[in-house]
Formats: sequence, C-alpha cells, structure tokens
Amino acid sequence: MRCPFCRHDDTQVVDSRVSEDGAAIRRRRRCPACDKRFTTYERVELALPTVVKKDGTRVEFDRRKILSSMQLALRKRPVAAEAIDEAVARVEYQLLASGEREVRSERLGELVMDELRKLDKIAYVRFASVYKRFEDVSEFKNLIDEFGRSAADAPGPTSRKRQS
Ligand SMILES: [Zn+2]
Repeated sequence: MRCPFCRHDDTQVVDSRVSEDGAAIRRRRRCPACDKRFTTYERVELALPTVVKKDGTRVEFDRRKILSSMQLALRKRPVAAEAIDEAVARVEYQLLASGEREVRSERLGELVMDELRKLDKIAYVRFASVYKRFEDVSEFKNLIDEFGRSAADAPGPTSRKRQS
C-alpha cells in the first residue's frame, strides 16, 4: 500500500487485527521511507475459514453449531447468554484475524475449549471430556442431546459412564 505522506509505494504492516464490529481488518502500517505511521481499515470479504474434519471432508463454518454446543456445555450453569455470545464472537475473531482459509476441526474445538475454560470450569470439563473423542463440535451436540433425554439433571457425561 502506498504511503499517504511521501507516496512511497511499499509500506510495512506493523499490526493487524479485526475491527470491533468484525467487518474490517484494521492494519497499522509504517512507511520505511519517511517513517510515518498510519492505520488502514480494509473492508474485505470476511469469510470464515472452511472447517476441515479429521477425515478430510470440508464443511462451512457454522456459528450456530458453535453457539449451541457452548450453550449445551453451559446448561444450568450461571453464565449469562451475552457472555456466551461474546465467547463465540471471540472464536470468530480469532479465525478471521488468522487470515487462514481453512481450519482443522481439532483447532476449532480447542478455541471453543479455551473460551469455556474462561467462562465456567464445569462446562469446560463437560465439553473437554466428550469433545476429545469426537470428530467435531456438532457430534458433541448430538451426544449431549441424547444424554439430555436420558438423564436430564445429570451433572455431566462422566457420571453416566461410571454408572454403566
Ligand atoms: Zn512515507
């Protein structure tokens, strides 16, 4: 990008992050010719990366799947809906800011686990204990759905395992 001060046509990116509203990439730039700094907001096609499953199949990133999995892990836990939304947004920001076009499902699961750990330890353990064995977040959702039907008030997946 051209320097707006001296017109030098090669500037360096010092810092790069997703803007607050998630609709642009904010870049801090420095001109090596005149040493001035400036910020650009680049409206880009902010496409979330495609999720690559363990078997190599690719699926579109689905925010609702992430949200519902977190909500399930946090069921009956004292965490506000707004805090869960913010956690999902942080996962999205991290993916957008990475600039990668693809993300492995394991990596996505790790990002979700990191957020759950910050929100609620019980929910984190619930998710982590189950997630590791499954291919993606939606499978966790299926398992929890099933679990919810058979033992609505159980504290978590591990207790059922011990009983059986
Ligand atoms: Zn310059």
